[in-house]
Amino acid sequence: MQASENSQDDFLFIDDSDEDEILDGSGEETWRVLIVDDDPEIHSVTQLALSDLVVLGRHLEYLHAYSGKDACKLIEENEDIVLVLLDVVMETDDAGLNVVKHIRESLGRLDIRIVLRTGQPGYAPEESVIKEYDINDYKTKTELTRRKLVTTVYAAIRSYQQIASVTESRQGLEKIVSSSSSLLELHTITEYSQGTLQQLAQLIDQDVEGLFCARGQGIIENADDLSFYIIAQQGFSTLLANQKLETLKDEQVAKQVKNCFTQKAHQYNDDSLYLYIARGGYRAVIYLTLTEPLSDIQKQLFEVFLSGIAIGYENVHLFQKLNNAAYKDWLTNLPNRLEFVRLLDTFAKDDCDNEVAALIDLNHFSDVNDALGQDIGNQLLAAVAQRLQTLSCHCKVARVGADVFGIIGTQSCVTPDTLVALFEQPFIAGEQKLPINASFGFCNKEHANSSGVKVLNQINIALNLAKKERVEHFAYYNPEMEDETQWRLNMIRELRNDFADNRLELWYQPQLSLSTGKVIGAEALLRWRTADGNFISPAVFIPLAEYSGLIVDIGDWVVNQACSQIKVLEEKAFDNITISVNVSIPQFRRGNFVNAVLSAIKNHQVTPNKLELEITENILMDDPQVVIDALVELKKHDISIALDDFGTGFSSLSYLQKLPLDRLKVDRTFIIDIAEEGQSVIAETIIDLGKKMDLKVIAEGIEEIEQQERLLELGCDEVQGFYYAKPMPQDEFLQFLNNNN
Ligand code: C2E
Ligand code: MG
Ligand code: MG
Repeated sequence: MQASENSQDDFLFIDDSDEDEILDGSGEETWRVLIVDDDPEIHSVTQLALSDLVVLGRHLEYLHAYSGKDACKLIEENEDIVLVLLDVVMETDDAGLNVVKHIRESLGRLDIRIVLRTGQPGYAPEESVIKEYDINDYKTKTELTRRKLVTTVYAAIRSYQQIASVTESRQGLEKIVSSSSSLLELHTITEYSQGTLQQLAQLIDQDVEGLFCARGQGIIENADDLSFYIIAQQGFSTLLANQKLETLKDEQVAKQVKNCFTQKAHQYNDDSLYLYIARGGYRAVIYLTLTEPLSDIQKQLFEVFLSGIAIGYENVHLFQKLNNAAYKDWLTNLPNRLEFVRLLDTFAKDDCDNEVAALIDLNHFSDVNDALGQDIGNQLLAAVAQRLQTLSCHCKVARVGADVFGIIGTQSCVTPDTLVALFEQPFIAGEQKLPINASFGFCNKEHANSSGVKVLNQINIALNLAKKERVEHFAYYNPEMEDETQWRLNMIRELRNDFADNRLELWYQPQLSLSTGKVIGAEALLRWRTADGNFISPAVFIPLAEYSGLIVDIGDWVVNQACSQIKVLEEKAFDNITISVNVSIPQFRRGNFVNAVLSAIKNHQVTPNKLELEITENILMDDPQVVIDALVELKKHDISIALDDFGTGFSSLSYLQKLPLDRLKVDRTFIIDIAEEGQSVIAETIIDLGKKMDLKVIAEGIEEIEQQERLLELGCDEVQGFYYAKPMPQDEFLQFLNNNN
């Protein structure tokens, strides 16, 4: 303590204040001021001098420290100290300056205001210290009259308050900028605009009304114009949202909003604000009403705040675009697969029991694409999309895959009938009129699983079955289908393994001439003996092999086996025995079927016409031209062709004429009752047809002598059936030939 310092204190606080307005006010909140001085008297005089002072509506409250050390401690303990009136010289000459350093450096408190006081001008800190440590005022105690002290304290607290509000706003702003990415995930443009208005209202801390306006195009659904729309509002009627600005019926505001847009600048009026938001081509104007004008600092803060808003506004647009890209199909503008799964999620969780979800798979779309080009293909898809949207109920339509559409609607509206009806008329694509049909899988709400992905899987299961239906291409999901699917997958896995392990065998069922009774050939039939020794019927596993595509490799193997068998027969001088193999559609589809058959013939060096390919009529249903082209090519190389299961399929006679056939096989169903009175009409017709077409006719499934007799009467050429022999392994077949021919 230095006595000389205090000798000046008598001059302190001469009452020269006449500023009553700063003494007004009352309130519960206070400003905490720390008085640091080693002279207790200074504490009481200061307190007395400031006793009536009210700053920005708050009284002052005092803390007292009598040394630098105490001061540091108090500041650490009281975070709400706003001002320190600090004696420079206390326990040491620089005790005050150490407190300053402690506040600014150790505690990092940049907001606390500091007024240095000293009794001795000689102890004045360097100017650099005052700047560096952001000291509000430096006064010798003699200079501090009461009036000056009040003014100094008043100014310091105001400045604290401004710093605090700037800091607060900056923190708010930082929060907005940094949280913009999470904001984007949660908010649409509308929500973002709404949030912005709320933030602004909070920032101004007034009861404001506000409008967030932008051009409609690309923001408001179905608004394709450049007029101004109200994207969000605050304090006005909610009916204004998404309406044209004119709906506000305030010409002045509408005019100013447009002005602000064209002048690209904010407009600050005493009772209103027009704020221009622009970034990356995304522009908007915010209109706010004010109850009192903004201060300059508020305006500055606003500018900073608005640049953050502009960034967010751009981001929200970009997000919307990404969102569109992620959830919309670019071609049809319909929801895409991802979005459809989300829609199915809602479908699964809603309690609308009368709803149904469906998949629509266009049949043979790839043919259109291949034959007419992708442009036409795209136009076709767009046309289908458009037609699906004409369904009368408010269905949700999506494009789920290249040629697969999804639809969710009521069970009365989305039915096989209504969907099939949509495909009755051809679709227009470019110059083309394209007749297209489709397969449909349905899943009613009652069977729907709990998540969208699972529901999609359920509909898919139904769709896959629907595709196999020959007449009606639709199926409704039911839980048993899933067991079936599981079973099917297991079987396919087992078949693949067993085929790789060489567990498939080719057996032969003799075919005989009716007139001579001699064996003229054999049908090669696959046998699958599983590891546990059981035979699985081809009627079961062939469809699975076809479904999984395995039939392509298996079919190659069959053709090669058959050729090697022909070779063996030739070598054993059974010269006129034909071996027939069955061929499935996937074998034709893979493209190099013709070559595969020809190279088998070549590799095994067998006479081509001893190999016969059996195709069923149903093969023609799917892809007639592919099959016809391949067969014509094979026929050129003298391979024989038979039409299997004739009469059970749906092929039109016009296709029959185009096929290069050698034989017709009358299906067993027409043979079963053939010996009974009046039951042979179909067999008879087929035999006559075969003769007219100059084809050999062979009857399948003869089990009794009576059937054979009737066939003889009808003039059938050849027979195959259990009555003569069941399918048998290769060596048994050789034995059979030895015994019979
Ligand atoms: P499919 O081509 O119509 O073959 C004739 C089927 O009738 C054979 O059944 C044969 O065992 C059976 N069968 C022959 N005579 C009689 C008879 O008197 N009574 C009765 N009840 N049945 C008789 P399997 O061997 O079970 O073959 C079933 C189907 O599996 C074949 O019908 C054919 O479509 C398919 N398949 C068999 N092997 C192959 C193959 O290597 N490739 C392809 N793609 N399909 C094959
Ligand atoms: Mg056959
Ligand atoms: Mg058959």
